[in-house]
Amino acid sequence: MKLKLAVIPGDGIGPEIVREARKALDKTAEKFGHEIEYTELLMGGASIDVHGVPLTDETIQAAKSSDAVLMGSIGGNAATSPWYQLPPDRRPEAGLLKLRKSLGLFANLRPAILYKELRHACPLREEISEKGFDMMIMRELTGGLYFGERRTEEIDGVLTAVDTLVYNENEIRRIAKKAFDIAGKRRGKVCSVDKANVLDSSRLWRKTVEEVAKDYPDIELSHMLVDNCAMQLVKAPSQFDVILTENMFGDILSDEASMVTGSIGMLASASLNDTKFGLYEPSGGSAPDIAGQDIANPIATVLSAAMLLRYSFDLDREADAIEAAVQQVLTEGYRTGDIMSEGCTKVGTAEMGDLIAARI
Ligand code: NAD
Repeated sequence: MKLKLAVIPGDGIGPEIVREARKALDKTAEKFGHEIEYTELLMGGASIDVHGVPLTDETIQAAKSSDAVLMGSIGGNAATSPWYQLPPDRRPEAGLLKLRKSLGLFANLRPAILYKELRHACPLREEISEKGFDMMIMRELTGGLYFGERRTEEIDGVLTAVDTLVYNENEIRRIAKKAFDIAGKRRGKVCSVDKANVLDSSRLWRKTVEEVAKDYPDIELSHMLVDNCAMQLVKAPSQFDVILTENMFGDILSDEASMVTGSIGMLASASLNDTKFGLYEPSGGSAPDIAGQDIANPIATVLSAAMLLRYSFDLDREADAIEAAVQQVLTEGYRTGDIMSEGCTKVGTAEMGDLIAARI
């Protein structure tokens, strides 16, 4: 297969971690007989330095004409970087928001996996963490409370603020389909999270998800109220496979789920539109404090590249090979500084990338 990838290394540790993910992609392509054509694009601070803006129209077009985008991360130190002297719409992060919008990315995927080798970093009690967990939080990204009408006004001399939570059935249906498709590639379980005992938008959510479920008889659907889900994530996280939820609930729950894994350098993510196209990036930021020192953990980006193969190209065996290589490196005791523990072998960013690629 020929894969046309746009690559956005970005700022800070971005270029280092993307370089290591490309090693894994190249090795996988070689092993399974694929051809990858990369187009490197500038975004964020790197684009401001060259073009004066964090994202150009040409970059958007180039991203759109690729099959998928692999990204590092963008942004700098807000206190010291000249990028943050610019007006908000010209700062690095504005580029990412504009790109996500231009690409119509409405589904955000964040896997939260507890590797048994990294169990010590999990803040949960041992009897919970020893069961491990491997879940995918699927969050609607373009609707709901963050995009509804809002205003603050004085009513009878009292300041009053209103935010509106709007979803239509089409928005719910398209993300529900994605969630069922993705569950089909995993353990076949979707837990839809809402607040249907209170909110109309949640009642429509639940009804629509149930309708979509009829087309997926092999997938097991359950529903959970969001407050219960917040508790279950710390009480019994091993019960979850795919968690499907709306924008604000997903914002909060995905951060909660990632915190219980304990290590930011391990967290991959993807944002998808209604085709196979997706933007794949680590969940962490550009970590300017450690940039250029060969100490950043590249694993989140390597795992994002595996997601890219799985979800944009249906190359499941290839994605499995990358994930198995990551698992093997951890089993053999190699660690970057952020996940280091006693008795393990500490390696830098480039060496970690080499070790993973060699095991694919
Ligand atoms: P951050 O995630 O960059 O860093 C938080 C802490 O985690 C730091 O101590 C950092 O060294 C560490 N860390 C992050 N990734 C790591 C890795 N791969 N390996 C080892 N350690 C790692 O968050 P921040 O410091 O709040 O933000 C820095 C910049 O990143 C800001 O400009 C912010 O806007 C931007 N940011 C970008 C994205 C994105 O590109 N999607 C996401 C979040 C933050």
